[in-house]
Amino acid sequence: MRRGLYLGRFQPYHLGHHQVLKKIVREVDEIIICIGSAQKSHEIENPFTAGERVLMVSRALEECDIKCYVIPIEDIQRNSLWVSHLKSMVPPFEIAYTNNPLVIELLREAGIEVKQSPLFKRNSYSGTEIRRMMLKGEKWEQFVPEKVVEIIRGIDGVNRLKTISQSDQE
Ligand code: NAD
Repeated sequence: MRRGLYLGRFQPYHLGHHQVLKKIVREVDEIIICIGSAQKSHEIENPFTAGERVLMVSRALEECDIKCYVIPIEDIQRNSLWVSHLKSMVPPFEIAYTNNPLVIELLREAGIEVKQSPLFKRNSYSGTEIRRMMLKGEKWEQFVPEKVVEIIRGIDGVNRLKTISQSDQE
C-alpha cells in the first residue's frame, strides 16, 4: 500500500493540476489531496473557499479510479512546524508530489520523499493566468476540467472575483 500526497492552493483547480494528478494515480494506491491555505477566500489571489475547492478536486477526480482523500489545511505562522501540522491533518503517506520550493525544502528536511512533476502548458495552465482571464472577461473555460467550469458557474465565481477586485475609491 503506497499513499501519495499532492498539495496545492487550487485557485482554481486547472488542467495542469489534473495532468499531474493523472500521472500520480498510476504510481500510488491511494491519494491524499491537500487544499492549502484553506482559511483564504474572497481575495483576488484566493477567490474560492476551501469547500468550493474540495468540490472542484473531488468532482474532477471522479474520472480516476482511485481511493482519494481531499483534505483542507490551513496555513500556520511557523514554517518550521508546518510539516508536523500537515501530518496531523492527513492519513500517513509515503511520498509527496510538489514543485513548490518551500514545500520541497520543508518536506525533505523532515525526511519525506518528494517527487517533482513536469509543468504542463504553464503559460495557460496557471491559476494566476486563469484569474487574470476571468477578470478581463476573456475565455478561461478551456483551461480547467469541465466539472470545474460547472462549479465556478454555479457559485457565480467570475462575478465574485470581479466584485472583490473593485475599489471603493473613485
Ligand atoms: P498551487 O495551486 O499554486 O500549485 C499546486 C501544484 O501544482 C504545485 O506543485 C505546482 O507546481 C503545480 N502546478 C501548477 N501549475 C502547473 C502546471 N501547469 N502543470 C503542472 N503542475 C502545475 O499551490 P502551491 O503554492 O504549491 O500550494 C502550497 C500550499 O502550501 C499553499 O497553500 C501554502 O500556503 C501552503 N504552505 C503553508 C505553509 C505554512 O502554513 N507555514 C508552509 C508551506 C506551504
